[in-house]
Amino acid sequence: MRIFTLGSGQLEKNEGPPQGIFATEYADEKTNFLCQTLLVWLIMKTKNSKYSSQNIDHIEAILTDEKILDLSALTKKGIIQENYTSCPLCKKIIEYEQLHKMLELDDEDGRANAAEQVSESTRSTEVNLFHMKPLLYSSLEHTPVNICWGHAVCNTKLGQIECIPVDTLISTGDEIKINNNESLGWLSKDKKMIRSSNGDTWIKISNGS
Ligand SMILES: [Zn+2]
Repeated sequence: MRIFTLGSGQLEKNEGPPQGIFATEYADEKTNFLCQTLLVWLIMKTKNSKYSSQNIDHIEAILTDEKILDLSALTKKGIIQENYTSCPLCKKIIEYEQLHKMLELDDEDGRANAAEQVSESTRSTEVNLFHMKPLLYSSLEHTPVNICWGHAVCNTKLGQIECIPVDTLISTGDEIKINNNESLGWLSKDKKMIRSSNGDTWIKISNGS
């Protein structure tokens, strides 16, 4: 969830109006509506959600009618785990509060070498809109089958790489074995991701010459 208005922090910043065009602006009205409806349903399925089960019925009726509410498919993608919304990259259950809590990079790996950051300068919540396939100018990827909630940090780690579910990698990728025939995981066809059945993930971060 991107935040456009900053609260009253210690350091005042003037960054001007939001820049660029957002994914939703490319999608047609119905696609946008169904994306929003699925995202609302996923908010209701977060841990500690403030919404009652009564509210969810109408949302589920819309999504079922559009054949979007496929629990088996959502679970295979890692978008739902144990009946809660989860991050498809790290598979951790998402808590309702994380949709609103501002991201503090101090807690994250790799923060140690970064320069000290201005308070709230990331302008991002801990959990963000997450696309399973990266957004490209050449195709419309802001669709209900491609969106969910995920950690802002996982989104950043993934970069422009497709978040391929481990089940898909097992059926389509190549198994990587090390040492005494120990299985490390399965490599994607584009050789950009390795995932193991126990949840480990490796992502390619640069290309050689
Ligand atoms: Zn995550």
